[in-house]
Amino acid sequence: MNIAIDGPAGAGKSTIAKRIARKMGSIYVDTGAMYRAMALFMIKNGILPEDAESIEKACENADISIAYQDGAQHVILNGEDVTECLRTEEVGNMASATSVNKKVRAKLVRAQQDLARKTSVVMDGRDIGTVVLPDADVKIYLTASVETRAERRYKELIEKGQEADLQAIANDIRDRDYRDMNREHSPLRQAEDAVLVDSSDMTIEEVVNRILEISDQRSFRKA
Ligand code: C5P
Repeated sequence: MNIAIDGPAGAGKSTIAKRIARKMGSIYVDTGAMYRAMALFMIKNGILPEDAESIEKACENADISIAYQDGAQHVILNGEDVTECLRTEEVGNMASATSVNKKVRAKLVRAQQDLARKTSVVMDGRDIGTVVLPDADVKIYLTASVETRAERRYKELIEKGQEADLQAIANDIRDRDYRDMNREHSPLRQAEDAVLVDSSDMTIEEVVNRILEISDQRSFRKA
């Protein structure tokens, strides 16, 4: 069974998807981490987000794969485990900019489809239900208000002991939403057959239970 979870930045996709994968005995695939690894490669090579030509050329030299250790996803960029370097605002913003590129998308979508062919996955991203796994058994569009998402991200950074500015985070989220929803290739949008879940006023547990309920209904209908 394949489950696709799409939605904007900070909606809680990865936390939720990880728990669902554990409960269902599937593998969790964080496709955002793959776009972030590609962004890290561009940053390391001094390529600017607006330099589409260099991004297209350089992406051919970025070998990105996923490995699992004790159930946790690790992202390997040209042989190096870069998992710990991916969750910064700089890499996230660069990922949002480089992921508009058609060649970057084609390369990573292929890798994601290969993974889902081999095993049951819970995959999260922006285009999973619409492009990567159009035949997924369950499609969820998980969202939350900009304010809620900014507050969650703010708390996460403060808990990690990092500096954070709530207003700046909210502005970044708005910019990223705009770019993700308005890009030419594979914009973020709810697939026609996806179920909308707004997590603004829901706990993690409530969201997980809601998605498990939807999955149960789908598999019951298929049986
Ligand atoms: O989900 P996360 O914030 O880690 O993703 C980083 C960026 O990668 C997003 O802002 C989005 O632009 C891009 N992305 C994408 N398609 C996906 C997953 C992520 O374009 N399937």
